[in-house]
Amino acid sequence: MAASKLDPIIAAYGKEHKKEFHAIYRAIERYEKIVVFRHLKPDYDAMGSQMGMVAFLKDNFPEKEIHFVGDNHVSFTPRLFPETENLPESWFKENKFLAIIMDVGDAERIADPRFKRASYKVKIDHHPCKKEVARASVCDLEMAAAAELAADLLLNWKGKTLSREAAYWFYIGIVGDSGRFLFSSTSPHTFAVAQALLATGLELPPLYQKMYEKNVDSLRSLAYVLGNFHVSPHGVAYYCLPKNVQDELHITPEQGKEHVNTFSNIEGINAWCSITEDPNPKDYCWRISIRSKGMDISGVAFKWEGGGHKQASGAKIKSLDQLDEFIADLDALFA
Ligand code: AMP
Repeated sequence: MAASKLDPIIAAYGKEHKKEFHAIYRAIERYEKIVVFRHLKPDYDAMGSQMGMVAFLKDNFPEKEIHFVGDNHVSFTPRLFPETENLPESWFKENKFLAIIMDVGDAERIADPRFKRASYKVKIDHHPCKKEVARASVCDLEMAAAAELAADLLLNWKGKTLSREAAYWFYIGIVGDSGRFLFSSTSPHTFAVAQALLATGLELPPLYQKMYEKNVDSLRSLAYVLGNFHVSPHGVAYYCLPKNVQDELHITPEQGKEHVNTFSNIEGINAWCSITEDPNPKDYCWRISIRSKGMDISGVAFKWEGGGHKQASGAKIKSLDQLDEFIADLDALFA
């Protein structure tokens, strides 16, 4: 897309980040083999930004070999996103490749540690990160989604096309991480990118249908959540889903967290969490998804082995014995 046709907000952002953007363009041009990575336990933005990048690369560089890897999502794959590739160990040993890491910065959260084998690493992200893993990167904590940043980067690449397919994936990432344009991270830039993506001819009703279709098990688990939540003295709502309850409801820990935003627009509730037992033998814990109306909860998440954004973070506790202390930490933010 020619720069002159770009929305002025997108063009201005590209100008401001010209140096980082060009370092990424040059890296992509240099490598014949590219693997696109994203974070573990993926969400709409991780998978949307990954698949959007894959589609863009395949469209604009048909001669290059493009791959994507990582764990699949319990309900998004294959309903919404394609299954990831099972690239064998031998491929990583035999090939020089570029790693493009989407929507994650911390090495331990990158789904597939073989990103370390890459000759060069590029990162496109909107999370705070402890230690930079990439040689060329663009990271903006103000972006509602990594997909928003990636779409800006690629729309600003002169002479390249962002196809309807690439736009479809990026749009899903933006809608997912901005909570359908509800969260405070939604900005004029978010809408400018969304409008540029829509202009490729996206059809929204089937896209939203695919994103938000629920099943009867999900409805039953919502009924459980509504019957079993607690609220702390200063407005932290939370619900726990132990393994035996997940089994009864036929849901996984990931599906259990999907109800967390049920509490997002309730008077007197300042922050809300899902707390789901994850019996994974390698890392037995209770996974916590934390959301807030406005207060920065990422510090509490960081204290409890997690991190994330001001209003959407993840954390974990080793057992329910720690629950009261964790809730007290969050509650203290609103005292
Ligand atoms: P979740 O509640 O798992 O959907 O996570 C909310 C946000 O926090 C997402 O942007 C995650 O990428 C981020 N997040 C979750 N867990 C962690 C963690 N352990 N470290 C850093 N960021 C996290």
